[in-house]
Amino acid sequence: DVDLDVLQRWLRTFAASVAEQQDTLTSLDAAIGDADHGANMDRGMKAVVEGLAATPGDPAALFKQTGMTLVKSVGGASGPLYGTLFLRMAPATGGAATLDPETFAKALRAGLEGVVARGKAEVGDKTMVDALTPALDALDTALSSGASLADALRAASAAADEGRDGTTPLVARKGRASYLGERSAGHQDPGATSAALLVAAAATAVA
Ligand code: ADP
Ligand code: MG
Ligand code: MG
Repeated sequence: DVDLDVLQRWLRTFAASVAEQQDTLTSLDAAIGDADHGANMDRGMKAVVEGLAATPGDPAALFKQTGMTLVKSVGGASGPLYGTLFLRMAPATGGAATLDPETFAKALRAGLEGVVARGKAEVGDKTMVDALTPALDALDTALSSGASLADALRAASAAADEGRDGTTPLVARKGRASYLGERSAGHQDPGATSAALLVAAAATAVA
């Protein structure tokens, strides 16, 4: 099951991937945005990892702390959206100390619903939602067919990568990239790229 140790490993792994891919995220954002997505996410995840030193007692508290840190430190469009994702995961844990796979999946789903409620992006709008939605669909499908959480997260990560790649031909309908209209097509979305790293980090943390 998913306990605080696994969740901290998830956040540390995501922070490490963001740090490693910071330049890639920034160049993607330079093409269709304002060239700050790598710096935004790196600043936010470094702050999240620093916060783990004084880590809260249960997953709900950890998600809440992570969400608030992201809202405060990331800025831009992605800060409130990633922040909301984690803030909405907190109540979905029901205060449990360890999360069974279904509860972890339900919490992620609640997080995605928060992102959609806040950002109003639909699948196909060329945003992080295009990576997260197929990932969580794949996670649910794998779990309900009896897969282990590790295998289900690997399937989710593959689906997130496909969703990320699928943003390239799309015309952006939300966020800064939408200001470019048709000229946003032909570029991979930076937020979908970081979101795929988030799902990959979960698979790594649980494996
Ligand atoms: P900003 O655009 O304010 O500089 P970032 O560069 O950090 O913020 O993040 C840009 C990413 O945020 C985009 O690539 C996209 O995936 C995501 N994004 C922007 N607007 C929305 C939205 N309304 N819903 C979901 N995701 C969004
Ligand atoms: Mg930007
Ligand atoms: Mg910006």
